[in-house]
Parts: sequence; C-alpha cells; structure tokens
Amino acid sequence: MIAWVGIGANLGQARANVLDALARLALLPDTSVLRASSLYRTAPVDSSGADYINAVACIDTTLAPHALLAALQDIELAHGRERPYRNAPRTLDLDLLLAGDETIATDTLTVPHPRMHERAFVLAPLTEIAPGLEIPGRGPARDFLPLVANQAIARIA
Ligand code: AMP
Repeated sequence: MIAWVGIGANLGQARANVLDALARLALLPDTSVLRASSLYRTAPVDSSGADYINAVACIDTTLAPHALLAALQDIELAHGRERPYRNAPRTLDLDLLLAGDETIATDTLTVPHPRMHERAFVLAPLTEIAPGLEIPGRGPARDFLPLVANQAIARIA
C-alpha cells in the first residue's frame, strides 16, 4: 500500500523532531519511504504556540491502515507527546492522510484525513511531491490550494 503521512511539530527541537520522524518511518517493518517533501514553516492552525515545522512523506508499506496508525502513534509517544488538552502544542504529530485509494471511517481512523484538504501545511508539501495526487472522494489535491491561500506557509529546506 502506498500511504501518505503528514508530520508536524511545534515544541522543542521541531525541525529535528520532524527529521527524526522521517527516519523512524523508514525503520517501520516492511516499510520504505519513497518520497519526503521539503520542510515548511507554518503558523498554528487550530492550535497554539510557536510556528510549526511540517512535512509530508510518501511510504510504501505492507502494514494495514490501523496497524500503520498504531505505528505512527508509537513514534509520537517516542517523542514524549502529551495531550493535556485538544489541539495543544505538540512535540510531534503524525497523521495518516491517505492509504492507497481507500476510504476508511472507524472510531479511531478516518481516511482520507478529514481536514487534510483544508490545510496549507498538508496541501503544499503533498503537492510538492505528488502534483497530480487525487484525494479519494474529493478530487485533485492541488485544486484545494487556492482555498488555503490565506494560511501563511514558507518552504524552509
Ligand atoms: P491528533 O490530536 O491529531 O493526533 O488526533 C489523534 C486522534 O485522531 C487519534 O485518537 C486517532 O485515532 C484519530 N484519528 C482518526 N483518523 C486519523 C488519521 N487519519 N490520522 C491520525 N489520527 C487519526
């Protein structure tokens, strides 16, 4: 399965945490990182605190979507993420954006990620590495970029 993972951090060594998350994705069982976007700096959306560092990775994995989500949460925990309140600042946040062309709606996992098309910090890195990507049920990811043009985002590396 080809999956797309959104990575964000805005506490501590945010840039280092994002890069470490990419390294840990590559170490997951039967998983390889096919592509990783540049890093981006974004103002918090639905959150608070310092600017975020964001990236998107494309992985090839044999993990099933729920197992992949659990693996992503393990990586978050390895970074000591605490959840004192909803949308609190976070050392590392990993979202399963897309899992092949599957649509999933369970209590613990919704794919495509329900807010990915509303977020410049997802759409900019995603379309950088996959300009023609379709969001199942919604259409081309790049079609949503004009709708988030008001969200400040800068490519940093
Ligand atoms: P967050 O605060 O963004 O890390 O949200 C984590 C919660 O969202 C967890 O309880 C997950 O079970 C749930 N969730 C549902 N769909 C997804 C998804 N596509 N990617 C990541 N977390 C998800």
